[in-house]
Parts: sequence; structure tokens; C-alpha cells
Amino acid sequence: MSRFIIVSNRLPITVKSENGVPMLSDSAGGLATALKGPHSKSDSLWIGWPGDISRIEKDRIHELEGKLSEKRFSPVYLSSSEVNKYYEGFSNGVIWPLYHYLVDKVQRSAWADWKAYHEVNQKFADIIASRSSGSDMIWIHDYQLSLLPGLLRKLLPNSKIGFFLHIPFPSSEVFRILPWREEILEGMLGSDLIGFHTYSYLRHFKRAVAKILGSDEDENSEGICINGRNISLGVFPIGIDVERFSSLARKDEVQNEIEGIRHENPDHKILLGVDRLDYTKGLIRRLMSFERLLEREPELRGKVKLIQVVVPSRTKVDSYEHLKKEMDELVGRINSTYGSIKSLPVHYLYRGISQEHLSALYCAADVMLVTPVRDGMNLVAKEFVASRNDENGVLILSEFAGAADELAEALIVNPYDVDRLALFMKKAILMSENEKTSRMKRLRERVFNYDAFHWTSAFVNALEKVAMPLANQPLVISSPDDFEKLFEKIKRVPEIHLFLDYDGTLVPFAETPEIAVPDKELLEIISALSVHHGIDLHLVSGRTRDTLEKWFGHFSLSLHAEHGFFSKMSPESEWIQNHHENPAWKAMLEKLLDEYTLETPGSMVERKSGGVAWHYRMSDPEMGVKQARNIRKRVDIDFQGSKVEMFNGEKVLEFRAKGVNKGAVILKTLQKNPGSSTCIAIGDDRTDEDMFAVLPPGSIGIHVGKKNTRAAFRFADIACTRLFLRKLSEL
Ligand code: UDP
Repeated sequence: MSRFIIVSNRLPITVKSENGVPMLSDSAGGLATALKGPHSKSDSLWIGWPGDISRIEKDRIHELEGKLSEKRFSPVYLSSSEVNKYYEGFSNGVIWPLYHYLVDKVQRSAWADWKAYHEVNQKFADIIASRSSGSDMIWIHDYQLSLLPGLLRKLLPNSKIGFFLHIPFPSSEVFRILPWREEILEGMLGSDLIGFHTYSYLRHFKRAVAKILGSDEDENSEGICINGRNISLGVFPIGIDVERFSSLARKDEVQNEIEGIRHENPDHKILLGVDRLDYTKGLIRRLMSFERLLEREPELRGKVKLIQVVVPSRTKVDSYEHLKKEMDELVGRINSTYGSIKSLPVHYLYRGISQEHLSALYCAADVMLVTPVRDGMNLVAKEFVASRNDENGVLILSEFAGAADELAEALIVNPYDVDRLALFMKKAILMSENEKTSRMKRLRERVFNYDAFHWTSAFVNALEKVAMPLANQPLVISSPDDFEKLFEKIKRVPEIHLFLDYDGTLVPFAETPEIAVPDKELLEIISALSVHHGIDLHLVSGRTRDTLEKWFGHFSLSLHAEHGFFSKMSPESEWIQNHHENPAWKAMLEKLLDEYTLETPGSMVERKSGGVAWHYRMSDPEMGVKQARNIRKRVDIDFQGSKVEMFNGEKVLEFRAKGVNKGAVILKTLQKNPGSSTCIAIGDDRTDEDMFAVLPPGSIGIHVGKKNTRAAFRFADIACTRLFLRKLSEL
């Protein structure tokens, strides 16, 4: 029976030991809150690390497991060395700072923890596989487990796997600093659906995949097609439990505390900051801006107070310790400069506080400061808004927090701009009641409509909808045993018409077409096939006559140049032109393509007799795709009515006379040779799909590579094609 499995680095509980007896307490983090609903309603299983259990006596571990299992939690135990390297090292020392654009905070020593990161992801994969029925829906969370979808896909090919990244996905310019960029992308791409908080993170991811793994960027689709699989991408900004914050704020104890805070600070405007101690939170710049405000606005001195709650976090990491020291010094400096016997401008609490206290602070604040230098989302901003049933209070929000995409009615600020942030503080303090209310009303609408439960159901619904692995996916052929099965199909036919594409099928793509010359091994294979009595060999390529003639003219085979515009049936015969339209459009089109080539670094025009091709393999992938789209639009308009046909090859736009295609070569061959022969067609790109489309029943179509295809079989790579052809020549 399939079930819903949630996977996160941490289980949403804390394990405590009371006299050696394990006790569980629920944690109130954002993820735990958001997933509590689906976890309790469905028969789901939650897999993750239960935290440090070293204080639990060994013979009581089964008690712990019993308690976990009652809550349908399944533990992944991690040794202290694993926690050190996988979690504190690679996850928090490398991925965390890099994804937040703080490249100088990347810990050099944690670079070596990649291996442990990989191993722990594998450990998660093995445990999940052992608990899974094989067809479950699995939702994996966050950057600590970015390899997990790919590792799991190998173990559970038929499961639906979703992945949500809770932190930013950085620009590909930053992401590609990671030496393991391919592995991380491939890991994430094991999913069927990948969710991000904002559209920019999604775009960054898509571009990184295009740039690093070389997939075509299709701007019209929100997904990625790679390795023969379609992966959906989506934007799902996480929300909070709004009712909880709204009702907490109504509680008598909270109301009393709000009064208390106001009473202690009469005539003071209260600015509030609530953050984990983290260098991403912009704490130093925020304090500097507050200092600037006091420096510039003497009349505000003694009338404003910044209450800053800092929750200790990652205390063992050097850079966090350093930040703490810097904070202490700066608070000391501001208080000693602008404080008086009666009051201090910065009230600094270095500790976690209860949700009731937090709620009272949110409600007592005149201005909430959420000014991270980078933050995936930031829940504090939404909690503040949900708490303000009085529709009062001003939110100052960093443009580098994911929340800024949703909360446009906040005062959106660049947290690096210390002067401007100080100005915004003043503006917020002086804002009219009307403006505050109208902004807050709209903020509350958004936060209430897109709450935690909406987030969860949006992601789960999208995951339910994504295409299951297609039943009619091509069969992957990889071993000599698989070859044998194919050969069984063809052993009894008197003749095989073998149609081979060249680039990407027999030789790898080179940076420019002239470099991809046939090597000795390939020439031997072609030679063996060409003299085989049972094989009628055809090379069907987009290349020109001259090139094919030079490389293969001396073999006993048929050559088809420019996708079948020209054919030469044997070494002795002449080239014939299969299509006789005079391509009047060609000169004009070449001129247009020349213009685009000048504008697009790395692109080039290939001139052929029957057509023309525009290559952009060497261009920036995004620019190449964009320019190709522009060219297509121009051609659609300017060449309306011309007998020109255009199509996308592998990073190439091909233009040729209508009716010329590789499929026509097969049809013509079969017309000439009616009877009990069969066809094998092997190719790698869009132009080869024309061959697969016309193959008669009983034929074998083989796609080389990882794209979507109508061929019934798939070879992983060119080496596999060559091995197959060698075996075929020995039949
Ligand atoms: N928070 C907390 N204890 C505190 C202060 C805050 O648990 O003493 C909570 C706060 O309510 C919020 C979370 O910590 O839900 C911080 O989430 P956010 O997205 O703002 O930042 P993160 O810490 O995840 O980077």
C-alpha cells in the first residue's frame, strides 16, 4: 500500500532524558507546524534524525523507538562525527553561507565534509527504501538532503518524489563555485517536483541546470526535461499558522504583557527585531542604522527604543561566535553613547523566548525590523503581521528576504544601505495611522490567505498531479544481454536497413562541427558494417555532402546529406538532389542569421546547399535559447508563405525546404525495397525523431541519450551505440 512519507533532517521533536528515560517534546518550528496537519490526518511516516540521544541509556532505546513509532516517526540515527561533518560541516559551513551569497563565510575546513554529506544522504536513502512500499509519495525537505532525491530514485524508481528547498537557491554564478555542483543538481533532479519559495530561486535553479548540466532552457515551461524525465518546478512560499498567532495575541496574559511593555516604555516608540543569531540576518547593519538614526535625529533620542531578541544558534561555529562578540560591542557602544540614567536605546536579549512573550512583543512594537541580508523566506515577518489584530504597526522588510515577494505593502529596504535603512526607521516611526492601517490590512490579507496549510496542500496537490514515470518510456539498453534480446528480433530477417545519425550518435558533439571527425574505432565499425551482407547501411546526417563524402565516401554505404536533401547510394554513384525547390528564401535567411550571429557571442551560421543552420552550442545557454526564439519569431513573420521549414536540433536551429527530413529517407528506401526486411534507426536529436516516426512495425528505433523520444529503446551514450554496432557487425 502506498503512503505519504515526509523526510527532513530533524524530526519535529526533541528527545530529552529524564533519569535515563527518554521523553519526547514537540518542536514548534515552521516546518513542524506546516506539516503537522497532513502528518496527523494521513497515515504518513516522518523520517529524520531525532537529535542527540547519547544521554538515553542503551537498554532504553527500544522505549524511545516505541514512543517515536506511536507518533509515526522513524529515526535516522547519526553519530556525533556524522552530525559534525554532514550537518555542521558541509550543510551549515558550506551550503548555508554559499546559498545565502556569503561566500567569505564558507568554512574552508568543511569543504572536506562533502564525503560525509554524501554518505549521510545515502544513509537516509537506504532507510527510506527499507521503510517504503516502492510506490509511495515522498516529500523531502531542504538543503541538508539535496542528494537524497537522486539517490532514492535509483532505489525506488516508481515513487513520486517531491523536494522543497527552504533556503534561497543562489544565482548560478555563485552556485557553480561548488566543485560538486553537478552532483547536487543531479541529486535534486531525482525529484518529480521541486519547490522554491520564490520565482527567482526557481529561475536560478533552472539556469544552473542549463549552464552546468547543459539542458535546453525552455522559458515557456516551468519544468525541466533531462535524463529522459520531466521534472516540475514550482513556487510555493511557505506560510505560518496564522490562527495560532492571531489568537495568541488575544489571550489575556498576552494583553497584560503588552500593557506592561508599554507601561515600562511610556513615550517611547518601540522598534523590534527577532532573529536567530546568524550572519544572514543583517544584525550588525541593523544596529548601525539604528545608531545612525540616533546620530542624525537628536530629537528622537530618549524617545525610541530597539528591543532586539537574538536566539542563540550554531554556537560552536567560529563565525557565529565572532558575530556574537561584534553584536555585544556594538550594543555597548550605542547604549553608552545614547543611553541615559533613565533608559537605554537598545534592549538586547540573547536567548529564546516563549511564543506568548513573542506575541506580546509583536503586538507592542511600533516598528518590526526584518532586515536580513539574505533569507529564504523569513517567518518572523509573517508572524508579526498575523499577530496585529489591531491592524497597526509598520513592517520594515529587506528586499533580500523571500517574504518581500509577497509582502509588497511593507516598507521594502536594501539592508546593505545603512543610511536609507535609518531613514526608513524614521519614516516608519512618523507614519500616519491611516497609512499604517491600510498597509497592514493588505499585508494581513496575504498572510491569512497563504498560510502554512495552504502551502502544504498546494505542494502536495502539485506532487499528486505530476506525471508518474511513463509506462511507455523507452526501454534502456545497456548490457550485452540486452543487445541479445534485440538481436533475437532481427536474426531471422534477410536484410536490415540500418539508418545512423552521425553527431551525438556515433561521435560526441564538439565545440564546432569541423572538429567532430570520425576516429579510428568508428571507421573500423563503419567498415565492418558496410561489408556485411545482411546490412544495408545508411548514414543520415545534417552534414553537408562534402563532409560526408570526405569522411565516408569510400565505404560501401548510402550517404544522405543535409537531412536527406541530397543522397548518394554508393561510392560509384553521383549525389542526387531529392528535392528540387529552389530555396529562394535562403539568401535572405542567411543574412538574418548573420545579424543574430554578430549579436550572440559563441553562435555561428552553417551554410548548406539546401538549407542553413544556426548553431548556439558555445553561447551562453539562456542567451542562446532567447535568441533562437527571437529568430523563430522573425522567421515566422518575415518568411510567411516561403517553403522553409525550421526546427530545433541539439543547440542548433535548422532551416530547410519543406518536406526534407530524415523520415523521408527511410520511406524512400522502403519503397525501393518492399519485402521482409526490417529497419533499425539510431539517433539522438529532434531530427532523428522524424525517422522514428515512420518506422514500420517490427523495426527498432533507438534514441541515444537522455531526451524525451518516441523511440522504443534508449542507449545511455555513444559508447553503447558503438558496442551495439560492433556486435551487430559480428552477427
Ligand atoms: N522563534 C523562536 N524562539 C524565539 C524567537 C523566535 O522559536 O525565541 C521563532 C520565530 O517565531 C520563527 C522562527 O523562530 O518562527 C524564525 O524563523 P525565520 O524564518 O524568521 O528564520 P530562520 O531562523 O528559520 O532562519
